Amino acid sequence: MSMLHVENINVYYGAIHAVKDISFHVDEGEVVTLIGANGAGKSTILKTISGLLHSHTGSITFLDQKIAGVPAHKIVSRGLAQVPEGRQVFLQMTVEENLEMGAYTRPGSEVAPGLETVYEQFPRLKERRRQVAGTLSGGEQQMLAMGRALMSRPKLMMLDEPSMGLAPILVEQIFEIIQTLHKAGTTILLVEQNARMALSVADRGYVLETGRILKTAPAHTLLEDEDVKKAYLGG
Ligand code: ATP
Repeated sequence: MSMLHVENINVYYGAIHAVKDISFHVDEGEVVTLIGANGAGKSTILKTISGLLHSHTGSITFLDQKIAGVPAHKIVSRGLAQVPEGRQVFLQMTVEENLEMGAYTRPGSEVAPGLETVYEQFPRLKERRRQVAGTLSGGEQQMLAMGRALMSRPKLMMLDEPSMGLAPILVEQIFEIIQTLHKAGTTILLVEQNARMALSVADRGYVLETGRILKTAPAHTLLEDEDVKKAYLGG
């Protein structure tokens, strides 16, 4: 079943046409990645899906309901959570308080079991649950941002550049977690500049260049694609 359907969206920042007539879809249980260089429009697409930016054309359908024009917090309560670029955790709050904030769309009775599930997935967060988020390492903050999104029990999780600013060892850890979530059945839309890592965990990928989709294929095919290798995988 197609969970998310994006059709012919166009997004502008003033005179800048950042997203040009883009269409793609994510099926239930899939990990789909959007790859492309800086400024290709990846973050703009995610922000448009999550209701922070608007497309004046086309449509965005999530679980058979149109979501274009629906306020961002209502989109979250329908089961679509975004882990923003740069993580944006609440720096003054503890790990556990951040996680609790992630459950704001859920009934109170779900908070404790939600925490338990997230702590199972991220033992590091459990160890640090009383620590103020601002003192966590970059990788731990990324885990916290992912854990916070999971607290809303998303049907689809959108990750914006989870590897950004992380040391290689932490990048590996974050991608291992993405694989674990995938195996557990979470549907994921992953935006990444680290195309090699993204394609290594994804089922399918879309290659973006200056606001357009250049090509789409199964991830393993893109990993072997000569143009993709040259442009995004370092030859
Ligand atoms: P990166 O990997 O560097 O985050 P991206 O693929 O996510 O890049 P976007 O952030 O979506 O790219 O940006 C797409 C284009 O829109 C870029 O040319 C960018 O300069 C422009 N843009 C993004 N945000 C704004 C803004 N608030 N005002 C004006 N232009 C913007």
